[in-house]
Amino acid sequence: MNRTILIMLMAGLVFGTCKKSEKKDDTPLLALAYLMNSSTCSTASSSTSTGTTVSNNTATLNTSTGCVTGVTSCMDSALPSWIKDNFKCATGYVSGGNYVFKSQNVPNTKSSYYGTSSPLYEARTTTGPNPNTTSSQKLVYTIPSSPTRGTGTVSTQGGLASIGITVNGLAIFNNAAAPPDLLTVEALTFDNYGGHPQNSGIYHHHAGATKITNNDANLVGLILDGYAIYGKKCDNGTATTADDFTPGDLDSLHGHTTKTIHFATATYHYHLAFDATATIDTLMGSFFYGNTGSVSN
Ligand SMILES: [Zn+2]
Ligand SMILES: [Zn+2]
Repeated sequence: MNRTILIMLMAGLVFGTCKKSEKKDDTPLLALAYLMNSSTCSTASSSTSTGTTVSNNTATLNTSTGCVTGVTSCMDSALPSWIKDNFKCATGYVSGGNYVFKSQNVPNTKSSYYGTSSPLYEARTTTGPNPNTTSSQKLVYTIPSSPTRGTGTVSTQGGLASIGITVNGLAIFNNAAAPPDLLTVEALTFDNYGGHPQNSGIYHHHAGATKITNNDANLVGLILDGYAIYGKKCDNGTATTADDFTPGDLDSLHGHTTKTIHFATATYHYHLAFDATATIDTLMGSFFYGNTGSVSN
């Protein structure tokens, strides 16, 4: 919301109460309530902040938001319903021809990577070494709302802070580990929900994100080029899970063009799929299909 309008409305509210006590006029109140309700996240959009820093030692799950307490979870009403109804644990809004997401990137699951003194600590079943601890971030994604096909040769391994955002506000990483490690080896450090932090504490998923998807057609998130990503199955454009199928026509970028429950006309999207480079299932392949937006942290 335009801050000036908000201030004017609030001023109107005060004057209205003082000057017209005998004839109560609640129009400004209704207008304010409407604006607050319809553009809750536009207010957040005027701020440069992604939210407060969440401390691992006091991190608990907020059962009403489904996010960690202190994580901003706000999807603006101007967003399309497939985003508004599925994304949380981040702030999302429309800005020109882009969707902007701001995320503290705090996992809404238990994890060994919160550290043993956190209420959200849970020992992992994997045994590979990873000395890193997850920490609150300030990720800002600017993602084209009308994605366009690119050359298909822009690497997902080009040093970006993240290459996409999951429906629960977490970073999506590519199909490679930090050299000289192999992702198959790094997979032995994933926590019980398939994620782990890198050396500056950014928790991320390369592969399965089991809080979101387990051999189903669930929406996993949005990639930096504006195309959606789903689990291992495709939903055939229907809500029923009985006709979900494992796509046999994926290109080398893990994508194909079909209808989904979120797109009534055939639209390109990615799937969690076996990756020839990583030699395990990964969310993304080596290249983007579309022209990418930008990300900062
Ligand atoms: Zn990693
Ligand atoms: Zn599909």
